Amino acid sequence: MTLAPNVYDAEPIPDSARVEIDKLLKSGDLFRYTAPEEAPVTLLEQEFAALMGSRYALAVSSCSAALFLSLKALGLPRDARVLIPGFTFAAVPSSVLHADCLPVLCEVGDNYRIDLRDFEAKLESGISAVIISHMRGHTSDMDAIMALCDARQIPVVEDAAHSLGTTWNGQNIGTIGRVGCFSFQSYKLVNAGEGGIVITDDADLVARAVIMSGAYEHNWSKHFNEMDSNLEAAFACHQNQHPLYNLRMSNLSAAIIRPQLNEIPRRVRDGRLGHDRVAARLNTSLWLHVPPALPQEERAPDSIQFNLVDLNAEDTDRFVKAAAERGVKVQVFGQSTDNARAFWNWQFLPGDTPELPQTRAMLMRACDVRLPARLTHAEQDIIADVLLMAADEVMGLEPQAYGT
Ligand SMILES: *Cc1c(COP(=O)(O)O)cnc(C)c1O
Repeated sequence: MTLAPNVYDAEPIPDSARVEIDKLLKSGDLFRYTAPEEAPVTLLEQEFAALMGSRYALAVSSCSAALFLSLKALGLPRDARVLIPGFTFAAVPSSVLHADCLPVLCEVGDNYRIDLRDFEAKLESGISAVIISHMRGHTSDMDAIMALCDARQIPVVEDAAHSLGTTWNGQNIGTIGRVGCFSFQSYKLVNAGEGGIVITDDADLVARAVIMSGAYEHNWSKHFNEMDSNLEAAFACHQNQHPLYNLRMSNLSAAIIRPQLNEIPRRVRDGRLGHDRVAARLNTSLWLHVPPALPQEERAPDSIQFNLVDLNAEDTDRFVKAAAERGVKVQVFGQSTDNARAFWNWQFLPGDTPELPQTRAMLMRACDVRLPARLTHAEQDIIADVLLMAADEVMGLEPQAYGT
């Protein structure tokens, strides 16, 4: 059988990045504040804000830094309770703890999206802010979430680290809540090795975040082409009032990111087509189920998640091994050792491990397979074939009779 494709290598960085990088190497101008204007980081912020349709953007060192600064910029008091999903990356509870707040976890359903009943119930437990993680690009019901949070005047931070290019009712993910955060780490849609960005329409929030990101003295004036009156008032109010965390992005990272912004539509389109092609195949199996997207959502996936149906722990193990023998690595979120997306591994959380039986059950049968946008149809088909064969090998072709 043909070899399964390598799903780990990133796409090459567009050649056009070389001109800008060469210029930076010659001038040594790597710090965003050296040049009085038009630094690559500032240009990236302007281009990204325009692309997303948001008023302001702040480029930083990672999405974790973006989440942390967002919480700090909301001005939450020490020990404020921040509601987060029980299925997310460890960076999310970590950012809450860094911001001196307390993470409160809510249940996630077997479609990887926030369980709205548990979310609403927990909103009543003295919650000051919410982080919604669109985990692997799966968008929770943002209409319901915004209605619940707006009614209580609770600010929503969107962790869109891995969801760039996803839309909800035609609106870009990350622009629905008060603030949105994205990642440029290598496994995300746009790759700078490391990097993140905050977007918001809130002048006061962005002024706080800019200062705390490390705009010492009056360096904030280099962030914006034109300062509107809201921004001027905000910086006047916040000058010298906040600690500096120095989470800035370097010009080199911005030079690598900017030419990739033009690639986003292609990567989104190819990623979605490839995902849907593999999903349709997997859903022909009795043993594999890819939950559908919500109707408001247009996804931008670079991986596929599916649930194992009627496989016990031993079957699951055998399925993972059978796929691996054919060259496809399947990660079952809750079964791989020390997985950073399994909440019981967040042993840095204060107190006992939270009780989230529904999320735990989902994590024990939810599989994750990388499916980068650059794969050809033939390569996508090999991955689908391997997963189907592995399931059939372990479970057979007929439904099994239980209780006999
Ligand atoms: C990758 C990721 C992060 C962290 O992003 P970094 O840029 O690596 O800090 C946070 N949340 C989610 C959902 C992610 O996928």
